[in-house]
Amino acid sequence: KTVVVTGANGFVASWVVKFLLERGYTVRGTVRNPDDTAKVGHLFGLSGAKERLTLHKADLLAEGAFDEVVQGADGIFHTASPYFIKGITDPEAQLLSPAIKGTLNVLKSASKASSVKRVVLTSSVAAVTNNDKPKSPEVIVDETWWSDPEYCTKQKSWYSLSKTLAEKEAWDFAKDKHFDLVVINPAMVVGPLLQSTLNTSSETILDMLKGVTKEYLNVSFGYVNVKDVALAHIFAYEIPTAAGRYLLAEKVLHYEEVVEILKKIAPAYSRPSKMVGEGPKAPTYTIKHDKVETLGLKLITVEDSFAELIESLKDSGYLSSTS
Ligand code: NDP
Repeated sequence: KTVVVTGANGFVASWVVKFLLERGYTVRGTVRNPDDTAKVGHLFGLSGAKERLTLHKADLLAEGAFDEVVQGADGIFHTASPYFIKGITDPEAQLLSPAIKGTLNVLKSASKASSVKRVVLTSSVAAVTNNDKPKSPEVIVDETWWSDPEYCTKQKSWYSLSKTLAEKEAWDFAKDKHFDLVVINPAMVVGPLLQSTLNTSSETILDMLKGVTKEYLNVSFGYVNVKDVALAHIFAYEIPTAAGRYLLAEKVLHYEEVVEILKKIAPAYSRPSKMVGEGPKAPTYTIKHDKVETLGLKLITVEDSFAELIESLKDSGYLSSTS
């Protein structure tokens, strides 16, 4: 079977590619620049890559850029989308446009390839929880929840807005097409890095451990292991009855609890010692994960996921092993 993975060099996608190769798939990965060895080099070290991985140049905003690469493929994993929170000066150009137009660009190419049976889209919990619904430890968030674009705009949560609008457009576009759409909505993804560059969710934890972040935010986020996220994509592709959205979070933690976990598993490193601002502590809530478990996934604990991320940051030299 031949599948396409967009943004193949990314944190999540690299694990998707690794597991696909291990399962015998032929993988066509799209990247912005196949010659950028710092970004893509790790992919050629994956088992099976020599025989069954090819890289193809495609920018999300280049009209028709995915037309050729999806021809003859059985499925598409659309993971590429900008994820950053620092240095946003033009949300439309930096986040909204590549996420929304990019998703439509990929889906339009899929609609012209009769071979494609299923598209698995990487959305986010950012497209689920960013709304004014009250949150408390009793609240259970499930797949019916959606982030509210107006709320995201008011909060200047541009990344959330990009993921919400991109997922909405995807569902609209995929109606009545010859392929079906399945969506994965992961929370903050942590765990070991395969790539040598640093992605946003890993950098957030690294900045705490290096003392760059001195005060933690008064917010609660869900967390999930990158290997579970990758497997969820593959199960959602392989299992014929998979349908709709799949929320993916092992546990929701307030930053205060993240700091406590980091203190326990990595006592040698720095941690932010106080919370930004005043006011009551943001509540935690539950993100349901029983739907994804019906695909056969048993989620790795957040504690193990943080420990794996820290080991990986040490191995790759981002975190000194002696401090
Ligand atoms: P990475 O930054 O590691 O990967 C993002 C990928 O998207 C990269 O391959 C990047 O290419 C590509 N990309 C960005 N802009 C463009 C563009 N204009 N044209 C082509 N490719 C582009 O992030 P993650 O692996 O963390 O994110 C992967 C997906 O998972 C995204 O859809 C993200 O929204 C989603 N997600 C991530 C979460 C997390 O905590 N990490 C949580 C929930 C969802 P390049 O390397 O060239 O920039």
